[in-house]
Amino acid sequence: MNLLPSFTSEWFRTRVVFGVGAIDRLAAELDALGLARALLIVTRGRANDLTWLRSRLGNRIVDVCDGAALHVPIERVRAALELADRASPQALLAVGGGSAIGLAKAIALERPWPIVAVPTTYAGSEMTSVWGITEGATKRTGRNAAVAPRVVVYDPALTLPLPADVSAASGMNAIAHAVEAMYAAEASPIALAAADDALRSLSRALPAVVARPDSIDARTLALRGAHAAGVALELAAMGLHHKICHVLGGTFGLPHAPTHAAMLPRVVAFNTPAAPVAMTRIAEALGADDAAIGLAALSRSLGLTSSLRALGFDPTDVDRAAKLITDSPYRNPRAASFEDVRDLLRNAL
Ligand code: NAD
Repeated sequence: MNLLPSFTSEWFRTRVVFGVGAIDRLAAELDALGLARALLIVTRGRANDLTWLRSRLGNRIVDVCDGAALHVPIERVRAALELADRASPQALLAVGGGSAIGLAKAIALERPWPIVAVPTTYAGSEMTSVWGITEGATKRTGRNAAVAPRVVVYDPALTLPLPADVSAASGMNAIAHAVEAMYAAEASPIALAAADDALRSLSRALPAVVARPDSIDARTLALRGAHAAGVALELAAMGLHHKICHVLGGTFGLPHAPTHAAMLPRVVAFNTPAAPVAMTRIAEALGADDAAIGLAALSRSLGLTSSLRALGFDPTDVDRAAKLITDSPYRNPRAASFEDVRDLLRNAL
């Protein structure tokens, strides 16, 4: 049986500093690279209290861009580029979730400044060269080595304030990266190992995070899983599930992470007949008998909805979404027709 026929793998140079208290090393990390002037990038809500960061970085923060928002709207990118040009930084310091890191990536596509990322959710964008920008109702995505962060500082203590429900959904977003890496065509051994670690870490950590959001042990294991899931995302091509979520988020405005949680068990059930080896590995990593059932049970136990309707999806949009998803599909273990995707979306309503 030929389980790993061939693979192509590309690495970029990202320095990762992980551990409780790692934030105290951020200034030294910037200094070591000669990055004395950083433009801080955050979402608006988090800009109110930055004393904890300023006290550590002093005058290394030359300006603050608080325009980060879900799915990186192009208008926010244009405004951020103007601000960045005025500030003329040496580095883009993204502190937050996928939105803050995503805006930094959009700037890095246009300007030569390296990204230093301090992730505070489980989205995993900090480990990837994947960028996304939403213009009108269309989200464009791509890969570019220039947007892969130069340094990533993970401090689990920074994730303690992340609310339990946001943590749960964000964790399922990370699990989705690992799941799709497991059945990706030509995934490298490192991608598979990272995906396996991510599934083991997150499936055990997330219930503990939801039960005790202030548990630093649970937060540390969850962030470790998120890091591994980000590595898997970088090293493997994503399939039907990510395509569905990009369209539902980018075109129909559904919330990113909860949409991942609602769709993942359904897409995995659809893909199961076409990827039996991967599904066995996923189930084993989750400690379940079946991958799709295990994911559905995990999502339920975290209190996440399995209903797209509850997330704001309008039943009259099903056909348009199915068409967008199948017009330019991502490579997937099982070919998905318009009718297949329409049925998946209808069932998920
Ligand atoms: P997000 O960055 O919008 O964060 C969710 C919310 O949590 C925000 O309001 C944010 O301000 C808040 N928050 C973040 N950290 C917090 C903390 N520690 N305490 C309290 N509040 C906190 O959402 P996300 O789920 O992290 O990221 C989703 C975005 O990232 C989407 O646009 C998605 O497409 C993108 N993404 C990109 C990649 C990639 O590789 N390019 C990977 C995953 C996700």
